[in-house]
Amino acid sequence: MLEQILSQLSPTGTKLVAVSKTKPEEAILKLYDEGQRIFGENRVQEIVAKHESLPKDIEWHFIGHLQTNKVKYIAPFVSLIHAVDSLKLLCEINKQAERNGRVIDCLLQFHIAEEESKYGLDLEEAKAILSSDDFLKMKNVHISGVMGMATFTDDLEQVRREFKNLHGIFEKLSILFFDEADAFREISMGMSGDYHIAVEEGSTMVRIGTLLFGKR
Ligand SMILES: *Cc1c(COP(=O)(O)O)cnc(C)c1O
Repeated sequence: MLEQILSQLSPTGTKLVAVSKTKPEEAILKLYDEGQRIFGENRVQEIVAKHESLPKDIEWHFIGHLQTNKVKYIAPFVSLIHAVDSLKLLCEINKQAERNGRVIDCLLQFHIAEEESKYGLDLEEAKAILSSDDFLKMKNVHISGVMGMATFTDDLEQVRREFKNLHGIFEKLSILFFDEADAFREISMGMSGDYHIAVEEGSTMVRIGTLLFGKR
């Protein structure tokens, strides 16, 4: 399955985040042995434990909702935080990154699903963050792109619309706030059920769990 997915991602150069949440270390090592190096987790305790016992060249991505008081546990090693949805969280990531002598890559999470959901920014909120004095002073976070989750639905046209919307948000922010040197280039969208559409709509990074590891 890994090989099949990678061959579908290769024409667009889309990266694969293997979402290993709830799965045992043996399952991760199996994919590691096939060459996969990027793994995604959504619980702090779990990512910390897995980082400690698994090979050190794994890039750990935090893909879930992150509580401010837990940033300190992942700051020493996390390679990308996908779901930044407030200035407060970004401030804490900056602070903990500085303590660890690191610059941590982050994505801004957007609320793109037409259904109700608790998490994610809208365009105006993101603009407010990116133009705030607090953000402009931060030296230890790097905003490398955007992330979003489509509605869980069989209506593929709706899913496509939502991904198009995220791509549009990415383009707008790119023009307004970033230049070439800022390396603002990632669009993290697409999961097991909808990654084909996400890739067609410009995803640079898909987050796939079920297809690789089976049902949770
Ligand atoms: C669990 C999860 C995924 C992977 O979902 P699958 O449907 O198992 O591929 C992707 N993104 C986020 C944010 C998740 O929490």
